Amino acid sequence: MFKDGVEARVAYPTEGFSGEVAGRSFHNGRFVQRLRQAAAAEPRLTLRQSTVRALAGADGGPWVEGRSPVCGVVHRASPGAPPATARAHLTVVCDGMYSNLRAKLSTPSIAAPSFFVGLILRNVTLPAPSHGHVVLMAPSPVLFYPISSGEVRCLVDIPGTSLPSTSTGALAAHLLGVVAPQVPACLRDEFVAAVGRGGMRSMQNKQMPANPVHVPGALLLGDSFNMRHPLTGGGMTVALSDAALLTKVLSALPDFADPAATALATASFYTSRKPLAATINTLANALYAVFCAKDDPAHDAMRGACFDYLKRGGSCAAGPVALLSGLRPRPSVLVAHFFAVAAFGVGRLLLPRPTLGGVRLALALLATATAIIVPIIRSEGVRAVFFPYLAPAPRLDKAVLDAAFACAAPRGGGGEGGGHPAPSPPARGALRTRLAAVAG
Ligand SMILES: Cc1cc2nc3c(=O)[nH]c(=O)nc-3n(C[C@H](O)[C@H](O)[C@H](O)COP(=O)(O)OP(=O)(O)OC[C@H]3O[C@@H](n4cnc5c(N)ncnc54)[C@H](O)[C@@H]3O)c2cc1C
Repeated sequence: MFKDGVEARVAYPTEGFSGEVAGRSFHNGRFVQRLRQAAAAEPRLTLRQSTVRALAGADGGPWVEGRSPVCGVVHRASPGAPPATARAHLTVVCDGMYSNLRAKLSTPSIAAPSFFVGLILRNVTLPAPSHGHVVLMAPSPVLFYPISSGEVRCLVDIPGTSLPSTSTGALAAHLLGVVAPQVPACLRDEFVAAVGRGGMRSMQNKQMPANPVHVPGALLLGDSFNMRHPLTGGGMTVALSDAALLTKVLSALPDFADPAATALATASFYTSRKPLAATINTLANALYAVFCAKDDPAHDAMRGACFDYLKRGGSCAAGPVALLSGLRPRPSVLVAHFFAVAAFGVGRLLLPRPTLGGVRLALALLATATAIIVPIIRSEGVRAVFFPYLAPAPRLDKAVLDAAFACAAPRGGGGEGGGHPAPSPPARGALRTRLAAVAG
């Protein structure tokens, strides 16, 4: 991390973990293609590529809320091709940041605090090779990290809901006039050259707490479900952890033929994922809010305190990094560290001898810290952050629940795996009771 020419080196606290646990950085596209190849090589998997138009209901047409569980997707293999239905007992919706399907399965509340403008720097030596670099600039942080042996990805955060225009040259002017002078000297020339080469790509950064509506037969995963500011690179950590957890939860089922039993498992997934997801989301959004520069002495004191707290190393660095990397996801520890940063900042303002100005600024710093963390915790859910296992299960529509039971009878010709036997009446009764408890 860099601030005003000062460097703070922070490492992943990997002691006690296997040698496989390490930070990784790469071309995202190459990584995703390798994941797809690995999935495709799985003998029990059939890979089909198509564009999904809608979720499918029990009749094979577009799914209508409340009428049936989700029973697959309506898709189109190519633009001119007729729509077809792929039936499934469980449909995992993971159509990313711009999801068209999430509105059916959640009540999304999306904030878009900033954009990332991406550049590639070539043949530069980073101040800390093999590390990610966060440079605390004004108005907001800039990241550098290696993605191959000769390339460094630079992500410039630009706050706001609109980006300076590329066509008028306003974006290049911002990068050269505002950002370049704050880039560490050893990277500056190549940064300027990269802007000159053009071809910058930009993405809007979005934040969206997970707020699922529990629909039997389907669940959300990845960015379509939950997003946080990408400053800490938490998106893949949450997505991959969710995928691993979902696998574990679903492996308790003999199959997915009974939508009610599957819905019970997916409800438990939504609750069990909270500790890790809430920790990473809260930390990412809080760090972003703290690291943005503001014309406010209290905010500036909090920003400086945060940098110096991490710079102290030891548990001050290891704790937050263990949280953000998902190594030790404990939301309450996160809140403790956040207020430890605030207390550290207050201590610096009051020691060695408190002055009236120092006391005022210290109180303002505490108010700033609270104003940052409280709305983030509220949006994640207070119970979900502090007592994740007491958090309410996602809303499950009673009518849909009844429809799920109605559809739990054997489904002849229901796509791959169709025609599974329904559970026996007593087992169904027990499931209904447990599921109704989940539904509240
Ligand atoms: C600028 C930026 C930088 C980031 N950097 C990092 C980082 O360093 N580390 C990190 O961990 N995370 C990072 N993230 C977050 C990370 O990229 C996401 O969390 C992750 O890609 C989410 O994966 P996903 O599969 O849910 O969505 P996506 O990766 O968006 O994949 C969704 C897929 O669904 C497909 N799709 C969409 N609609 C349909 C449809 N109707 N039919 C068929 N297919 C469809 C899309 O084509 C796409 O292939 C970053 C995000 C941004 C914006």
